[in-house]
Amino acid sequence: EETVVIVGAGQAGGEVATSLRQQGYEGRVVLVGDEAHPPYQRPPLSKGFLLGKVQLAQLYLKPEATYERFNIALKLGTRVTAVEREAREVVLHDGSRLAYDKLVLATGGRARMLELPGVDPYKLGNLFYLRSIPDVEGMRSHFVAGKHLVLIGAGYVGLEVAAAAVQLGVQVTVIDVAPRVLSRVTGPEVSGFIEGVHRDRGVTFRMPATVKGVTLDEAGEAVREVVVEQDGVEERIAADVVLVGIGLVPNTELAEAAGLAVDDGIVVDALAQTSDPRVLAVGDCANQPSAYAGRRIRLESVPNAMEHARVAAATVLGKAAPTPAVPWFWSEQYGMRLQLVGLSTGYDRCVVRGSMENRAFSAFYLADGHLIAADVVGRPADFVAAKKLVAAKAVLDPAALADENVALATLG
Ligand code: FAD
Repeated sequence: EETVVIVGAGQAGGEVATSLRQQGYEGRVVLVGDEAHPPYQRPPLSKGFLLGKVQLAQLYLKPEATYERFNIALKLGTRVTAVEREAREVVLHDGSRLAYDKLVLATGGRARMLELPGVDPYKLGNLFYLRSIPDVEGMRSHFVAGKHLVLIGAGYVGLEVAAAAVQLGVQVTVIDVAPRVLSRVTGPEVSGFIEGVHRDRGVTFRMPATVKGVTLDEAGEAVREVVVEQDGVEERIAADVVLVGIGLVPNTELAEAAGLAVDDGIVVDALAQTSDPRVLAVGDCANQPSAYAGRRIRLESVPNAMEHARVAAATVLGKAAPTPAVPWFWSEQYGMRLQLVGLSTGYDRCVVRGSMENRAFSAFYLADGHLIAADVVGRPADFVAAKKLVAAKAVLDPAALADENVALATLG
């Protein structure tokens, strides 16, 4: 029987499996994942799940019974250790093998580790990374009112954890080498706004500052202080708990060992095919051509994981792939929703519509007069309009964009 094997039962892998069935695939579908849980959503991990407002079962993308109903063989707690392309087999950690006709790599990524010379990070009971359900389960008991959390990395994950921690009564200090928060993904105006929201809630920022190391307790099993250098001055910040959120490393080792092209992710074409057309790659682990960006990109977002998975399923079925949309993303901090569309890199003008003070505004990024991206806070209707305008790279008059009397939908 024709078989599709999917490696990685995360957001993208789960969607490939169900999408294959929804698109009419009748062969065998095997979804192999090394985690203990069926495919689940990661976004709540740094938000509602950390706060205890979202329960475990609510994280699951589909109830386990759905995989049975769709005749998808779900192999959890199972790690793929090698891909043998000539034999068209994958090797599992117990040495057994699975034959495939088409293979989909949906291996995601892992948290980038902080280099701490002379320290074994696995021995530290109060230093955490955040990627999975067990990561949150491990850190929860440390998020106690009055304790001090030192957060290394002012990206989305870090800031969302900061917001959750503050809501739990934890004191928070954020350290980053960059001069401003979210520096890789947004402009200074929005960075300044987000930082202000956190400062208002009592968060302390040490930026730009470098982490030089940590001091440990006597047993060498917990971090006691984080040593930072700011403006040439070294200082020790006492910490009860430390969270490191300094980015993601795509899981490309399997692909690389199998001789597939890898360059900041597994290189795929517009149909999600790797350099071997029998092998596809999707989601955080894949580096794909983007018509919107005019270059190759690797995206780390749920919308991308879902859309890319559907493209791969269509490719397996030999159907024309749906056109992937413009990248978009969301974040939630203190109940405030931030929605982003497009990639603002390379913008030459930022136009703000609405009021930052009232926490209801949109920041539009223009390059040569074209709208290339938008960050929207608390104005969902703006986001709907911005998605269309960014997709069209509309040429817009900055004065009209800023003017709330001019409806966005009439522009472009
Ligand atoms: P993953 O979801 O990482 O799935 C990959 C799976 O493959 C994992 O289960 C992994 O263990 C498994 N695997 C890897 N190698 C093997 C192997 N050899 N054998 C078997 N299994 C293997 N995105 C948003 O759009 N909005 C948000 O608000 C948002 N918040 C986030 C908050 C957090 C804390 C995190 C961690 C991520 C967040 N993201 C958010 C990003 C989003 O979750 C990812 O982009 C998405 O999960 C990517 O899906 P994926 O399937 O490519 O990778």
